[in-house]
Amino acid sequence: MSHVILCKMCQKEVAPDKRADAIYCSDECRISAHHSEARRRNRERTSYERSIQTRFAAWLAAFEERLRRQAPENAIGYRAGLWCGRDYVWFPIVPVGRDAKGRSRGRLDINRRRATDEYFSLQPFEPPSVPLATLYQIRFISSVYPYPDMGEAGSFEEAIPYEIKMNNLPIDNIKALPVRRQRM
Ligand SMILES: [Zn+2]
Repeated sequence: MSHVILCKMCQKEVAPDKRADAIYCSDECRISAHHSEARRRNRERTSYERSIQTRFAAWLAAFEERLRRQAPENAIGYRAGLWCGRDYVWFPIVPVGRDAKGRSRGRLDINRRRATDEYFSLQPFEPPSVPLATLYQIRFISSVYPYPDMGEAGSFEEAIPYEIKMNNLPIDNIKALPVRRQRM
């Protein structure tokens, strides 16, 4: 057949001796297509994450109200526990270690600003930042140093309907957890 196939990346003709199903003219084009696909997915995720507070405004308002109703006296913040089969992994996670200037690396809040608190703040309300849209155990944190977890006091379960990509989680394969994912 003399049917001409054009490279999906550079539009040059794919040499006829290539495999019949080739869609790229070269390895370079295949790799660069792979990279641009990764960039596209990245952009999509960033714009999704930026839209969370608008998109989930009603849920966030209801969640904030529930937190205020449930919070024991002296609670300064809360955290969200993801059940991983044997134990909870609690968010937020503040990475250990310091940067080159000796400052704590901190964590990123939902606005991608650095924060060092090991809890989400109640006042002002800080929306939770979690890596998987699913069910979490919410627990309160005492305002009294060293800010212990207040255990069952006021604790409740909540399905958080959005997720934010996080690196270096202490969970092997978060997508494989036996949890029911929320509709996004
Ligand atoms: Zn090409």
